[in-house]
Amino acid sequence: MSATERTDVLVIGSGFGGAIPAYHLAAGGAEVVILERGPHLTAPDFTHDLRLGSYTRIVDLVQGDGITVVAGNCVGGSSVVYFAASLRAPGFVFDRRGSLGHRLWPSTLTRAALDPWYDRVEEALPVAEQSWDQVPYPGGLFAAACARAGRTCNPVPVAVDLARCTNCNWMLNGCHFDAKRSMLLNYLPAATAHGAEIRPLHEAQTIAPATTPGYRYRVSYTQLDAGDYRLPVGVGAIEAKTVVLAAGALATPVLLQRSAPLLGGVPQAVGRYFSGNGDRVSIADVDEGKVRDLLGLERAPGIPYQGFPIGKPIGSMSYDRLDPATAEFTRFSLQQIYFPGITDLLAQATDTPATSWFGVRKKEMRARWPSWLSVLAMTEDDNEGVFGPPPPTGSSTRVATSLCLSTLSYRPTANTLRGWAAADAEARAVLERDGLARVRPWSENPAGSVSAHPLASCRMGDDPATSALDERGELRGHPGLFVTDGSAVPTSLCVNPSLTIAALAERACPGIVESTAEAGVRVRYGAPAPR
Ligand SMILES: Cc1cc2nc3c(=O)[nH]c(=O)nc-3n(C[C@H](O)[C@H](O)[C@H](O)COP(=O)(O)OP(=O)(O)OC[C@H]3O[C@@H](n4cnc5c(N)ncnc54)[C@H](O)[C@@H]3O)c2cc1C
Repeated sequence: MSATERTDVLVIGSGFGGAIPAYHLAAGGAEVVILERGPHLTAPDFTHDLRLGSYTRIVDLVQGDGITVVAGNCVGGSSVVYFAASLRAPGFVFDRRGSLGHRLWPSTLTRAALDPWYDRVEEALPVAEQSWDQVPYPGGLFAAACARAGRTCNPVPVAVDLARCTNCNWMLNGCHFDAKRSMLLNYLPAATAHGAEIRPLHEAQTIAPATTPGYRYRVSYTQLDAGDYRLPVGVGAIEAKTVVLAAGALATPVLLQRSAPLLGGVPQAVGRYFSGNGDRVSIADVDEGKVRDLLGLERAPGIPYQGFPIGKPIGSMSYDRLDPATAEFTRFSLQQIYFPGITDLLAQATDTPATSWFGVRKKEMRARWPSWLSVLAMTEDDNEGVFGPPPPTGSSTRVATSLCLSTLSYRPTANTLRGWAAADAEARAVLERDGLARVRPWSENPAGSVSAHPLASCRMGDDPATSALDERGELRGHPGLFVTDGSAVPTSLCVNPSLTIAALAERACPGIVESTAEAGVRVRYGAPAPR
């Protein structure tokens, strides 16, 4: 049996939800250890090539029943692979009632209450406003189409150092130029500067009561092989006074499900109410001639800089349908987004009799790939995702380096379908006007919608029956066990979620520090934004 280690605070996961508490706890004087399932890579490792291994070592494709989710698997979590669109959630989101018919966010949480925490994250990352000159060609094209259709469109704020950005559009590989402000550049180095220890390739498996007096939890983990994450190469356990669980919305509930017998039960909302942020992707197959004639724009031949694959992946978006006066499930944003070629297999030819990922129709669609303008709608879904019983280890069954089978089931309700239909109609109204493009939404059939924004699977709220966490982010009935990742966010947000996840993690920190101090650790809250 391996020896048990001890630390003041154990953080599981190193994305936004893990890195932010790790920094504040370490800066406040606590001993902090971070367990991270994925490898620790930095800018020189993030290469520009289409080799499968370049993506698969840091990005997981997680296949559930009715949904496919993309997520990061490395130190820094999804912040390393994300596209850095950094937006505050609209105020109405915090009043959402969903089909349960009562307010889903804690009553203490409003947009105004979260604004000071958004301020901190925006300062720490930092977030930059793009001018139209900095928005890449497809973002300008989408904006021009919106304007022609009588809609407004805005440059998207991004957590990118615009002076360093080369517009290479390889964000999914990790940023080779350290322009994308991932957790690798701010909270994590600041945490390690204050003594926090990051352990990559360490996958937490269970959380149980501690055996050492004065300690509250014992976390058992598996060490993973760097070349094949399916292979365990060691085991161990760490006891901690406080545990911060931030393994992401696909992993946090599964870890708690597996730990439930050891912990004497977990709230029934664990593993329920998952939201894919209402993500709905469409491919607009653009007629380049109409772009020239109707919009007065042109991709100059031989100048790849003006092609769709060049630039930052997210350039512009329309907020017109984020009207708080309209009914829930009909509000959404529409965002121009670029997906690298490797994700083409997810695109579906949905205007054929049978939706197809393969075959002639898909080949015909694929042939026009250079003219695909992708549009992401972020709608109000109905928190309909549910996790089945946990697999023996990990959060899903890893069948290949980055291909995982999850027990997550997602069957969109009529409410969600209504939102997607409204978003599809709006995308068509903007982009199909006068034959500018042909819009094909990815389907919601049982093989799946696609999301890069997993949320709400261990959510906070006031109602113990439908929320696993109290308003401080503490797991009900388990003092000193906090959840600070996307799983804590109660509902879809109608915009990209990272800034809200980060702001909620910042907001949870004073409570985590207080709880840790109550457990006998000399720690205090008050560190400035990391530099
Ligand atoms: C391709 C892509 C593009 C995106 N673009 C945007 C965007 O432009 N704007 C935006 O706002 N959002 C974007 N997102 C979403 C955003 O990145 C996520 O919502 C956010 O990073 C999630 O933060 P988190 O802390 O909840 O989880 P994560 O950042 O996913 O962190 C969880 C970490 O826990 C680790 N882990 C899991 N299980 C275990 C375990 N058992 N033990 C130890 N470690 C474990 C994982 O490896 C991971 O590193 C994008 C996501 C993707 C995948």
